[in-house]
Amino acid sequence: MVWEQRWHPLREEWVIIAAHRQNRPWIGETLKPNEVNIPEYDPECYFCPGNQRVSGIRNPQYQRTFVFDNDHPCVGWDAPESLEIPVGIYKNKPAHGIARVVCYSPKHNLTLAELDVTEIVALLKVWQEQYKELGSHPEIEHVLIFENKGEVVGVSNPHPHCQIYATNFVFKYIEIEAGVSKKYFHETGRILFQDIIRSEVEDGRRIICENDSAIAFLPYFARYAYEVYVAPKETYPDLTGLSEKELRDFAAILKLLLIKYDNLWQMPFPYVMPLHQAPTDGKDHSTFHFHIEFHPPLRKPNLLKYLAGPEVGGGNFLTDTSPEEKAEELRCQSDVHYKQNRI
Ligand SMILES: [Zn+2]
Ligand SMILES: [Zn+2]
Repeated sequence: MVWEQRWHPLREEWVIIAAHRQNRPWIGETLKPNEVNIPEYDPECYFCPGNQRVSGIRNPQYQRTFVFDNDHPCVGWDAPESLEIPVGIYKNKPAHGIARVVCYSPKHNLTLAELDVTEIVALLKVWQEQYKELGSHPEIEHVLIFENKGEVVGVSNPHPHCQIYATNFVFKYIEIEAGVSKKYFHETGRILFQDIIRSEVEDGRRIICENDSAIAFLPYFARYAYEVYVAPKETYPDLTGLSEKELRDFAAILKLLLIKYDNLWQMPFPYVMPLHQAPTDGKDHSTFHFHIEFHPPLRKPNLLKYLAGPEVGGGNFLTDTSPEEKAEELRCQSDVHYKQNRI
């Protein structure tokens, strides 16, 4: 049983691993995973082809992916310009930016895990275009692409989609990672993320899957029980640097991980999935290594990881599970999606 503190080199913070408490009794609320039969088309869905959205705009009969401006944007060019000047040391600025939605597929019930590799490659290319287009705007400093999946992370519409927030500031985690990576390079002459991959490969116990140019691992310093990073083996500050072959390899590893996630408890696996790409603030980010992180909120099929005293109150994570054990659990899952086995 692991009972120690591990250093998170990308965030420069300690993670308390207290796996010896894993089976402590739980008398609180448990969640019951319920898998209902979701139809391929839902006439009530805002994202399905041909349907009308809240804005009154009708979706086209799209065939693959579909990108549109969010009907309820949190940032936009039409956000108020003249703001109340705050008192004292406080400051504010207009909530400028662009918020978009990307539907992965016209099929309402098809998750990322169930798309084929070619379809995932097509999606990666959409992300490349969006990052390039939105990031080139002079006022946009960062393009955050993320998917929230599952009701436990607040998603009520199962239609597979992700969101894009292109903002006039750099999101905090990216700012931290970019700063730490720069500092590490300055001190050692090496890319921090390359050293992380090297350490994971050398240890080997936490690698979920890998191929020629892509790798998925549950990091030594994982803050969530089933947290996994997916990355190309070469360093690129963002997704646009990957070659055709690297995109395919990356899509294959992404799919494999998602299949293992779903197979773990034979249910669609909920997660928050951010793409960590370099800021688009015009500064040098050549030491930033693009990767996707998965932050799954569940510790067990029916048990949520609550963020409480240590995480919310103190800012450091406490985890009750051993990263080595959880990686083993994931790695030994079948490479064939459980839904396919049912047919
Ligand atoms: Zn739909
Ligand atoms: Zn990251």
